[in-house]
Amino acid sequence: MDLRKTKIVCTLGPSSGDRKVIRSLIKSGMDVARLNFSHGSHEDHRAVAQTVRQEAFKLGKNTALLQDLQGIKIRVGMVHGGSVPLKTGSRVNLLPGEKDSSSENIYISYPALLKDVKKGDFVLIDDGLIRLRAVALKTSHIEAEILEGGVLRSKKGVNFPSSETTLPAFTEKDRKDLLFGIDIGVDYVAVSFVRSAKDIEIIRQWAKKRNLNLPPLIAKIEKPEAIDNIQGILDAVDGIMVARGDLGVELPTEKVPVMQKMLIEEANKKGKLVITATQMLESMKEHSRPTRAEATDVANAVLDGTDALMLSAETAAGKFPVESVSMMDTIIKHTEKMLFNRIGRFYNVGGSFPGAIADGAKESAKDTNAKAIVVFSHSGFTALLLSKLKPEVPVIAFTPNQRTLKAMSLYWGIYGRALETPDVSILDEVFMKTVERMLIKDGFIQKGDNIVFAASSPFLGKANIIRLHKIL
Ligand code: PEP
Repeated sequence: MDLRKTKIVCTLGPSSGDRKVIRSLIKSGMDVARLNFSHGSHEDHRAVAQTVRQEAFKLGKNTALLQDLQGIKIRVGMVHGGSVPLKTGSRVNLLPGEKDSSSENIYISYPALLKDVKKGDFVLIDDGLIRLRAVALKTSHIEAEILEGGVLRSKKGVNFPSSETTLPAFTEKDRKDLLFGIDIGVDYVAVSFVRSAKDIEIIRQWAKKRNLNLPPLIAKIEKPEAIDNIQGILDAVDGIMVARGDLGVELPTEKVPVMQKMLIEEANKKGKLVITATQMLESMKEHSRPTRAEATDVANAVLDGTDALMLSAETAAGKFPVESVSMMDTIIKHTEKMLFNRIGRFYNVGGSFPGAIADGAKESAKDTNAKAIVVFSHSGFTALLLSKLKPEVPVIAFTPNQRTLKAMSLYWGIYGRALETPDVSILDEVFMKTVERMLIKDGFIQKGDNIVFAASSPFLGKANIIRLHKIL
């Protein structure tokens, strides 16, 4: 069986909204579908989410839905005639607002512009291709020098890498979108432009006041402040995303590779999920094959120890969405097969019962040459601990909880299975036989193999039992 452990997140968009494409993406390896709320209407997202659920169900997969909130994405407004030149060495005025921009006046959709941008701060436009520096602060605008000019186009993104931005990351639009996401049952929510744990606490308190059941939260790490506050953020969230797109604009490019490794290591140490994102197979937007550098980037992120890799424009707006997933799937499988022992492992099981059970299950599987670890997990916690230990054999996680089942699609090396009976005893021989038959049918094991069970008794408690078993 050619299994893959590192998971794949695909952003859905114009190239992949169609039912046939979604079906092919799932068949080719999409574990998690990302709905990008920077674009599209609620009705578009509802239709796509429904299609993902329906096609996954037909294919017997547990594909999860990840809602990505826009956050305070700062942009220039519309530009006169669609584009205007900005000449290196000349000056422009920066103003807060949404009016049309020209070569003289650039309107930026950030109400606190005049308060937050200080003299000497950098203002980057269009992924940093255009670079400005604030030289004088006036009452109605900021005068900026164009350090590196270019063509200013409508709706391009703006970053303030050296300014401390004070407006909350969780905007009015995000609140509406999150209510909608909860309504359609998304499995994860990614929060953009997080700066500290406070940005996450605001969301948790908001949800608590409304009695809302929040899905697991993923903090997108794309601002220098988030890196300074990473330990607090990790404590507050279920996972992080190394959002290399904006991070690479806000930080000098040379810092991104080291930052990626550091963030993956820190997330793993704390037992939190980590997704590595953006430009992984960028050239596949236009071509059916990636560059060698992109293939190497995918392999290196696997070796860094990331739980999942994300495709963005490749699947959302590219010409080869399905080929991009297949290519990523192939590169990951080959890397895992050839260099399994070089994959980053950083998690240290603490002194808890579930930690000791996860560690014991992994070691027992090694000692008995077992072909799989089977875990029974209600909340998914024991499955997550096992995932973080990165065992060589597949971990099949049974759960009676549909939310857990979907969420586990993002866990490294975990293959989720629905458990029909919510109340089982792993010592029940009839039940063991049922599980055996399922695993043989799915190709995980065959007669004569050893397997390791990890579970809790009573079932709803914390994991406290390891059972070694031979399939006769
Ligand atoms: C990123 O910046 O890398 C990212 C994933 O965020 P977005 O695609 O929303 O810009």
